[in-house]
Amino acid sequence: DPRIQLIASSIRVVPDFPKKGIMFQDITTLLLDPKAFKDTVDLFVERYTGNGISVVAGVEARGFIFGPPIALAIGAKFIPLRKPRKLPGEVISENYVLEYGTDCLQMHVGAVQPGERALVVDDLVATGGTLCAAISLLERAGAEVVECACVIELPELKGREKLNGKPLYILMESH
Ligand code: IMP
Repeated sequence: DPRIQLIASSIRVVPDFPKKGIMFQDITTLLLDPKAFKDTVDLFVERYTGNGISVVAGVEARGFIFGPPIALAIGAKFIPLRKPRKLPGEVISENYVLEYGTDCLQMHVGAVQPGERALVVDDLVATGGTLCAAISLLERAGAEVVECACVIELPELKGREKLNGKPLYILMESH
């Protein structure tokens, strides 16, 4: 798709952020280009329209940028999956392992009903730990996770293998 090239060229790579040795993929520059931003959303909307997806779950923080426009366009609800102590209602939690230490995602109880078809959205998949936690939260609530969708995959980290066979759709790989 010719749109992918424009999207890829609009993403800035920042060396040594947030620490030495990391090549940080910065999607904020994509958001500065309305055509690239719209193309990104459109590619996902084209893929997920008419699939019976009733839930788009976005992972804090950049899943909150791409998830809502996709949800609105396909007629699905949006659920924020948040870092601990941000959601005011009753939550379920899923801990996951980072390079150093652990992190946690939380979801509001009652946000999703058993049997709903869900899509998980984030900007980037690295080790896959974050998406894995997101999938677990939705499945514990009885939802069926149809697919995970990210703009960028870092394929060397083999995050795809951590998703227990869940399909992962990406727009581009980064090395
Ligand atoms: P994982 O859990 O190792 O797959 O890491 C993915 C999470 O870390 C996602 O929520 C990303 O937003 C974030 N992340 C990791 N590396 C980058 C990056 O280079 N750019 C933007 N986000 C990143």
